[in-house]
Amino acid sequence: GALAAAVQASAGGDAQQVMAEARGALAAKASQLHAVVPDSLYTPAFQPALAGQKIQLTVINPLGLHARPAAQFVTTASRFDTAVRLTNLTSGKGPVNGQSINQVTTLAVRQRHEIEIEAAGRQAAEALAALRELVESGFGETEQQQPPKTTADQRPTTSDERGRAIAASPGIALGPAFIYRPTLPEVTVKTIDDPTAEWERLTTAAQTAQQELEIARQNAVRQIGAYEAAIFDAHLLILQDPDLLTAVREQIFTEKINAEAAWRQAIETTAASYRALEDDYLQARAADVTDVGLRLLRLLTGKAGVSLTPPEPSILVAHDLTPSDTAELDPKLILGICTEIGGATSHSAILARALGIPAVVGAGPAIAQLKDGMRLALDGSHGRLWLEPDDNQWALLQTAREEWLAAQAEARANSLQPAVTKDGRHFEVVANVRSAADARAALENGAEGVGLLRTEFLYLERTTAPSEDEQVAAYEAIAAIMGRRPLIIRTLDVGGDKPLAYLNTGAEDNPFLGWRGIRLCLDQPEILKTQLRAILRVSDGRQIKIMFPMIATVDETRAAKGILAEAQAELRTAGVPFDEEMEVGIMIETPAAVLIADLLAAEVDFFSIGSNDLTQYVMAADRGNVRVAQLADAYQPAVLRAMQLTITAARAAGIWVGLCGELAGDPLATPLLIGLGLDEFSMSAPMIAAVKQRISQVTVSEAEQLAKTALGLGTAGEVRQLLAG
Ligand code: PEP
Ligand code: MG
Repeated sequence: GALAAAVQASAGGDAQQVMAEARGALAAKASQLHAVVPDSLYTPAFQPALAGQKIQLTVINPLGLHARPAAQFVTTASRFDTAVRLTNLTSGKGPVNGQSINQVTTLAVRQRHEIEIEAAGRQAAEALAALRELVESGFGETEQQQPPKTTADQRPTTSDERGRAIAASPGIALGPAFIYRPTLPEVTVKTIDDPTAEWERLTTAAQTAQQELEIARQNAVRQIGAYEAAIFDAHLLILQDPDLLTAVREQIFTEKINAEAAWRQAIETTAASYRALEDDYLQARAADVTDVGLRLLRLLTGKAGVSLTPPEPSILVAHDLTPSDTAELDPKLILGICTEIGGATSHSAILARALGIPAVVGAGPAIAQLKDGMRLALDGSHGRLWLEPDDNQWALLQTAREEWLAAQAEARANSLQPAVTKDGRHFEVVANVRSAADARAALENGAEGVGLLRTEFLYLERTTAPSEDEQVAAYEAIAAIMGRRPLIIRTLDVGGDKPLAYLNTGAEDNPFLGWRGIRLCLDQPEILKTQLRAILRVSDGRQIKIMFPMIATVDETRAAKGILAEAQAELRTAGVPFDEEMEVGIMIETPAAVLIADLLAAEVDFFSIGSNDLTQYVMAADRGNVRVAQLADAYQPAVLRAMQLTITAARAAGIWVGLCGELAGDPLATPLLIGLGLDEFSMSAPMIAAVKQRISQVTVSEAEQLAKTALGLGTAGEVRQLLAG
């Protein structure tokens, strides 16, 4: 950079040209670091404004420069090779760096405030013109698109009035609301020797966080809409805020402290500056800063670091819950869960069911306005939510809860017995698990084994893939609990709504139709082979089976089996024992797999129907999108027929078929699935008792008759009605 600048200077270039040359030399490095360390981090301190490079404007949009307009301002200011300063002339605050989201937002610019924008640099005139247009157009905001105000007439409506909450985990819950607001965990301040390495650790984690946010943004666009998803743009800008990053960098280099401590300190200071503002809405934005802070801390420390422990038994209200959020949930303290986004088979819903906590999801943005302690009730079987129910309603709901608890206790009393129909046929009832703790809970609930181990939880929320030995330890812990019981380990199923930054899953236009599951693993065979070797190493003397997700073709099946054969050959050569007879199966989750089920059945030992994905792909309806929840319904006749085709093909080929989607844990569907010819049911542990009970109440011939009738019905509603009897 210095050399290039010297050449430019000796050739008679002016100061701006010399600066541009110097900065240009950093372009390669900057592009390696993507946008995480923006170019502006390297720009020199703000130069005095050149004559005529200042404009004064009046802000016209009703809520001033709140989060979204501030984000647009910063994005626009950062597009140009220019330093930008912003002053709030009305309040006298500023000037601040116009490329820093935190600085711009905390200027607290309101409607009718006068602002001054100053620009210096090569593209100052262009930057000012673009910013003028943005401010004068009111940032393109319409009257409807305002951030929520907490006024009496905008109190949240109950979900059943809007008909949009989704039944996610059965049961009735009543209690005070406990609003989940993440806070930053304490981190130990350590003295470090190598600040450059520490800074690199931070930028690597920031890159991962950036990819996570981009993918989360895309998912949110699909699930709730572009306007609401823009909150992630604000999070991205916070993550890339040059002032914040400069502060962290300075701490690391001058104080010689560890990245997590420097980051936590900078985030806390920034969040405090939001909390100090007068404006309620802007004060609440401290939560966004904390959220971004937590995301990066989690990546740096590998720990979830959130506390979801209410002071008394409560209903947890959250925007959404991640697997790490819910890992520590205590069902004695969390009576119910209500989330703003998500569908019935979204991962927060699956987790709620796994914990046996009644839940509704997809209740909409209105729940963001609920307050701690407000009386709440929900019915997770029917997707209903009551805000501040009156005493009469409360008493009725209390009775309904007691009835539900009594029915559960009755079912649980028999759950440790095998599931046998009235005419004496045994059905295998196994569990979906993701950890050793889940495996223990599965046995306590009467599971006869594991029908689906979701291994992706080993890979998520970290910056590198787990090593072979690490995986062996994790699988061994679960296998030891299962002993000789069947344990089906599904190979890594990420992509789609489970992004993984270090595998370069990246952002895709259609992530569910993109690079996920077996597709991603076959393109990165070393990842798959490492996992297969780890599984094989724990298989000796056990009843472990391997299952590949998201299969659509015979080629994929053969390729996956080919990598398995390589892993087996390597272990044989190394003299490592493993189960040579291990069964290999695939998940039936795509319409393609259904249509060639006969061809696929010739390749494998078993099928397991993934009804969650099969439903979304058959119906072309995103499993997490509230707006298409009626379509993304496993009781849709098209889905039932897809399952029937699969089971018929498997039977003809003489292989067995299980089902490990959420439908397996719904007792309403149990007789139908028996009637279709299913052999194995795999579900969240708390559902086992009810499904076993339902199995014991029917005969196979009754179930077959019921399935035949159901397959002739035209709507999901009619199917449910028939099954409800
Ligand atoms: C399914 O798709 O039904 C399934 C069991 O897999 P997952 O929910 O993990 O995608
Ligand atoms: Mg699936």
